[in-house]
Amino acid sequence: MTLKHKLKQLKLEKLTAVKNVMAFSKKIATPETKDLNIFLNLNENAIEQAKAIDKRIKDGTAGKLAGLCFAVKSNISVKGLETNCGSKVLEGYVSSYNATVINKLLGEDAILLGMVNMDEFACGASGETSAFGPTKNPRNVELIPGGSSSGSSSAVAAELCDFSLGSDTGGSIRNPASHCGVTGLKPTYGAVSRYGLIDMTMSFDCIGPLTNSAKDAKLIFNVIRGQDNFDQTTREATEEEPSKKGVIGLVDVQRFCGKEIAELIELKTKEVAEKNNWKIKKINLPLDIMIQTYYIIVYTEFFSATRKFDGRRFGKKIEEVAGPEVVRRIVGGSEITKAEHEGKYYREALKARNFIKGEFEKIFDGVDAVILPTVPRTPHKVGKKISIEDMYAYDVFTTPASIAGLPAISVPVGKVEGKDVGLQILAPHFQEELIFKLAKSFE
Ligand code: GLN
Repeated sequence: MTLKHKLKQLKLEKLTAVKNVMAFSKKIATPETKDLNIFLNLNENAIEQAKAIDKRIKDGTAGKLAGLCFAVKSNISVKGLETNCGSKVLEGYVSSYNATVINKLLGEDAILLGMVNMDEFACGASGETSAFGPTKNPRNVELIPGGSSSGSSSAVAAELCDFSLGSDTGGSIRNPASHCGVTGLKPTYGAVSRYGLIDMTMSFDCIGPLTNSAKDAKLIFNVIRGQDNFDQTTREATEEEPSKKGVIGLVDVQRFCGKEIAELIELKTKEVAEKNNWKIKKINLPLDIMIQTYYIIVYTEFFSATRKFDGRRFGKKIEEVAGPEVVRRIVGGSEITKAEHEGKYYREALKARNFIKGEFEKIFDGVDAVILPTVPRTPHKVGKKISIEDMYAYDVFTTPASIAGLPAISVPVGKVEGKDVGLQILAPHFQEELIFKLAKSFE
């Protein structure tokens, strides 16, 4: 059922907000669901809130999302709930205010069910680095769900909510969407307010929805987007005229990706292009510099962002309590930002970032959108030892959109070795509308 359909049922009072909450709560409480390790804490007031919303539905004064239930990644601040970023550092930290996106959703009468698991401080691609244990993939509990928005994708895949919010710095919405067979949108940088999101890497971080379809993603995106005085990087989302060249760019990924995944993406693209009368243009992206560029900027900005976790104001001292992936980034970030290295790493990475942005500008002169796999490999077994290099290589296809600030969506397009595979669509800045349209053709 699409969200629009469910909203209609709620409006016609064939379903009530209270019943919707109760159905999800019942499912969340089952032992099978608990084993997936998705929810970290629940909103105890959900039923009360649903009652008030049912009343407003009756009165005809309810908001656009009245009665829909959502889950939130634990790095997006919700007043009165523990926002712990999947870390012991912030265990017990209860937020005193709502992130802008939360205010917008609550303002439209959506109901928050609770906070969900994630890789610690959003550092990871597998959902295994949370201090509260790994999240499991509801499609196959032996497998990772992807990360870092592991709880957000698993909650949608396990049908524990109508939609969820995640954050994406270098792929953390798209990667778990791909592994869990759901849809995940990373909006254009600046399209959605980051106010209330606990920073990982400020110049990349984006909040976006995880849903069961592009249509659902569009509904939620249209509620959460827009200029916000609390986040100076936001811009009013004006409708940009989507480009209509009728040409789609397919990136050459052979060297970076499992053969079967590359073939599936190419096959799907050809199929859909034929149906829609699009031309396909093979394009080259400088994929071999994405990981280095991304991680130097991440290490630098993450180091800076975590200086406030000194054990005096919020929670515990991060270096003493956080897990190895977080500490690695802090130690690495403190090293590369030393005065003696001035200009050697961060500034070079910024130059590379500009170069990558320029490459995309050239590419979009010739194509409307760009297609890539979301993740170069299928999900591994939870707990399997993976080298750091291999783990970072998971991000090779998602970091390009992050580095260039572009909107990108991951949609499920099939299976390889019986495991879900996502296809990624990238478009020019603020062309989410085009992304939704294209994504629908792939569903
Ligand atoms: N896997 C990437 C990283 O660990 C992406 C994380 C994210 O998008 N939050 O940096």
